[in-house]
Amino acid sequence: MCNNSITIVGSYNVGLFLKGQRLPKFGETIIGDKFHEGGGGKGSNQAITASVLGGKVNFVGRIGSDKYGQDAVAMYKRLGVSTDFIQVDETIHTGISVILIDKDGNNIISVIPGANFNLCQDDIDKAEQAIKNSKIVGFQLENRIDVIDYAIRKVHSMGISTLLDPAPAVKLPKDLYPHIDYIKPNETEASILTDIEVNDFDIAKKAAHWFISNGVKNVIITLGKRGAILVKEDDDEVYKFEPPKVEAIDTTGAGDVFSGALMTALSKGTSIDKAIVFANYAAALSVTKLGVIEAIPHLDEVQTFLGHSS
Ligand code: ADP
Repeated sequence: MCNNSITIVGSYNVGLFLKGQRLPKFGETIIGDKFHEGGGGKGSNQAITASVLGGKVNFVGRIGSDKYGQDAVAMYKRLGVSTDFIQVDETIHTGISVILIDKDGNNIISVIPGANFNLCQDDIDKAEQAIKNSKIVGFQLENRIDVIDYAIRKVHSMGISTLLDPAPAVKLPKDLYPHIDYIKPNETEASILTDIEVNDFDIAKKAAHWFISNGVKNVIITLGKRGAILVKEDDDEVYKFEPPKVEAIDTTGAGDVFSGALMTALSKGTSIDKAIVFANYAAALSVTKLGVIEAIPHLDEVQTFLGHSS
């Protein structure tokens, strides 16, 4: 039985981007300049990244039976993500976000989770075979927390590695942490989860040790252009990983690219240290382009970049 796939349990949201000179004031209607529609949602972004970078990916999620849901399935087929465990929900619309952007890039966003909040335990159980064939299963927090909690415990009890990208951050039950093999918060998420205000390297170390003392096996805290740190259980060392210097154009989705790339590397049996180097380079490349999905680098780009920079 081959067990080098990746399963990602998560969200899909279509994003409707409306760009104008300025944002409307309360109660005001304005005429904008540009409209763009694109697929998003943390789980979806991570699944696509993992696939584009060469992983074998199953996505477990829910969409509506509307045009947006159909577009998502077409996109997954095009980008090599298996849709076998995506449930089409007849009772509710696909997750949606509306993003208003002004000429300087400032935005306001409203998200309605729709079908994402109907993902249920039964959907996780239906994906059991895919999970069994996986080297690692990834989670985020854009579905109902009780369902993600159930899924993490189930996957862990099956002996498969679990990776939680705890975004958007909400406090988690303490007894969930021992079921998490890899946790990957950014500074804000680490601060919310640990109550330790993470704003520099030394404090990030303290937050990482908080996760370890609560039972997580490997903690990776991303620090934007400063890269990431790794703390492992049974190892007092704090490992620091700097990303290559790049000209950042748009950092939206960098954390998702990092997680997707990390899972691809781990699914191939790469050590956690090398997987973080790979994820750092993939995420750094992604910030040099506009957009999220459009900015996901291909495997050969990351390999070339790694080759040139090492
Ligand atoms: P999030 O997108 O979740 O807020 P971070 O801002 O910590 O997460 O970024 C995630 C990863 O993206 C970083 O660890 C790094 O690898 C990469 N990254 C982000 N910003 C930059 C940058 N300006 N230059 C190079 N790499 C970056």
